[in-house]
Amino acid sequence: MEVFISSDVDPSVGEAIEKTLNVAGEYWGLWWPVEYWVMGLEEKAGRDLVDQFCARRDARSQWDYDDCMEREAGPDDHSMMSYQRLGAKAVAAEQPSLSAGRNGTADWGIHRFASSLPWGLAGLFGIPGEEEVKTVLHEYWHAVQHSHILTLNRDKRDELLGPVWFVEGSAEYMSQYGLADLKSQGLLPEVPMGDWPFALEDQMENKLRIVDDALSGECKGRELTSITEYSDPCSYLGYDMGAWASAYLMNIAGNDVLLEQFYPDLESTGWQASFEKVAGMSLDQFNSEFMEFIGKSTEERMAILPVFPEDKKYENLAACRTVRLFAKDTNDLCQAKPEAQHHKAQGDKANCNHENEKDHSRHPTLATGVNKPVWPPAISQSSHK
Ligand SMILES: [Zn+2]
Repeated sequence: MEVFISSDVDPSVGEAIEKTLNVAGEYWGLWWPVEYWVMGLEEKAGRDLVDQFCARRDARSQWDYDDCMEREAGPDDHSMMSYQRLGAKAVAAEQPSLSAGRNGTADWGIHRFASSLPWGLAGLFGIPGEEEVKTVLHEYWHAVQHSHILTLNRDKRDELLGPVWFVEGSAEYMSQYGLADLKSQGLLPEVPMGDWPFALEDQMENKLRIVDDALSGECKGRELTSITEYSDPCSYLGYDMGAWASAYLMNIAGNDVLLEQFYPDLESTGWQASFEKVAGMSLDQFNSEFMEFIGKSTEERMAILPVFPEDKKYENLAACRTVRLFAKDTNDLCQAKPEAQHHKAQGDKANCNHENEKDHSRHPTLATGVNKPVWPPAISQSSHK
């Protein structure tokens, strides 16, 4: 697990990311090599990091230095510099949007991630550091997903990854669940607390509000299995409704179903057949049952979530949460802050970029960290779009 940060980013940010990746590796199995590149706010420092990235690719005969610089230091969306620009723009607009993504690359035999500045780890905008830890877990789950697919054929990889609601929904739920589980075991790195609590229950309830709003508004009539593409204007439902679909699946099939049953069979069985096998029903049936479930009351839906013991240091924050308030700062925890404001500010958080690709019994049994990595697959080609 290697983390590379722009020189204008505080080293503690990189340390928290590295610790999170290592914890995730012990928790879900070690799927590596991972390179996690974190851009800051300054353009010059960002270009220096791109330079380091491209020199590394060139030295490994993966990508010609000039081609790499042209693309990664250029104006394209999802280039490395686009993450620097996004961070700088967010500061200018005082809107803490964040973007992170797994941008390949099976051809190089690595999991390569890029991220804009994780505000919560840098102690900015009052965002809880755990929000960013969750994002790192979300991204690492994508490494878990990709590591179970050995073919280098891009179309086949996309097909085996599954539809957006599954790819993103499972990454989102596994990261939320994983964070809550790891937190309850005291295994998370120390990160800034931020100005409001970060808890599974709140996060999942917030997703319900997003789903309910979407299904009664701009995404009216849409069903889970229709959310298959990132280009879909309702693709954000893949994250929020998809996370709930994962929670629903795990409520039926057990919290370790993905790591223990689904992924080991995936490449030989295919996405849909593997899903149907673990769900114990056809995909159509799962979709109908889930859509019926998602139409239920918040209380009924929340009842399927696992409950983790609270970490002691969060007791005050938890107390505030019960009255659904968000604090302005940690000295004034129960100062009212409209919830909608928080959600709006965080609205972009789940948007991963997928340029090159397009929770368990109490503890997943891969927690030993001794899994033999199957990654990287045999590398026979060196190419990059
Ligand atoms: Zn994602």
